[in-house]
Amino acid sequence: MVRAFITGITGQDGSYLVEHLLHRKYEVHGFVRPGTDITHTHLADHANDIGFHEGDLTDRDALERAVSTIAPDEVYHLAAQSHVGHSFEAAEETLALNGMATVSLLEIIRLACPKARFLNAASSEIFGRPETTPQDETTPLAPVNPYGCAKALGTQMTRLYREAHGMFMVNAILYNHESPRRPERFVPQKICRAAAAIKLGQQKELRLGDLSAERDWSDARDIVRGLWLALQHHRPDDFIFASGEAHTVQEIVEIAFETVDIDWKKHVKRDQSLLRPAEPNRLVGNPRHARNLLDWQPETDFRQLIIGLTHAALRELNC
Ligand code: GDP
Repeated sequence: MVRAFITGITGQDGSYLVEHLLHRKYEVHGFVRPGTDITHTHLADHANDIGFHEGDLTDRDALERAVSTIAPDEVYHLAAQSHVGHSFEAAEETLALNGMATVSLLEIIRLACPKARFLNAASSEIFGRPETTPQDETTPLAPVNPYGCAKALGTQMTRLYREAHGMFMVNAILYNHESPRRPERFVPQKICRAAAAIKLGQQKELRLGDLSAERDWSDARDIVRGLWLALQHHRPDDFIFASGEAHTVQEIVEIAFETVDIDWKKHVKRDQSLLRPAEPNRLVGNPRHARNLLDWQPETDFRQLIIGLTHAALRELNC
């Protein structure tokens, strides 16, 4: 039985990864915050099939205890402070969680189980304002927010451990990816839930920041399949997982409101307080490397994703 250890196991990606790995008969272990009530997470249905290890991500001893006890074959490091906007208000915390904790984990693996395969969930935010679009695995790092700076540290250190120590260390460079499990602080879920709530008469208006902001959005389930494929490859490498297409926040609004047959112009209001101090520019990923080496193909496109999120919100709010 292959043993996997997942940080960030209760999050969107962690919970889909658990389903993917259990289906493949893995022994699955996860790192969770002390006192986490699993019945209130996306893992509630699988609680008995997972080994839980408690600790804060910044608690090096707890991480070390978990890794030494489990002796994992594969480590998926997904845990992070996941909100870019919030990182401006919490720079030190973001650097500790998204940067230094990754370094600790790399070092713990080097000392405790150097044969383990390690995947770092890196982010498009490491490219910040890139000079080339789309970006690929060779694009220089140029982050423009604390979240991106922290992820850049983790990404570069993962490369360094691969190159300097010859270990199986992989960066999965993830562009935005969504699902019904995403919290509403991310804009696609915020928009799709609002469209559904307005349709059901539960909400009147939707306040948004920059409607022209662009991202490369994918379905989280496609991305998670890519994470697993990246660790099954015969050689460690960096892989971009993205759709390769840029779309605007406004396009999400249009598709979500069209799905519920409502005129978005009557309900969407601009809110200056939701604008970011700095926006990344033209973040679009080139997934060619993952497609060629891993045979990775997304199953859901942008339009299907937004329609699916809106239908899922309608079902949930209707209960
Ligand atoms: P991010 O790429 O991790 O920051 O993902 P988000 O879903 O939080 O934001 C994506 C883009 O949507 C950013 O460029 C935001 O500036 C823009 N945006 C516009 N209005 C909103 C809003 O009301 N909430 C959020 N979270 N983002 C918004």
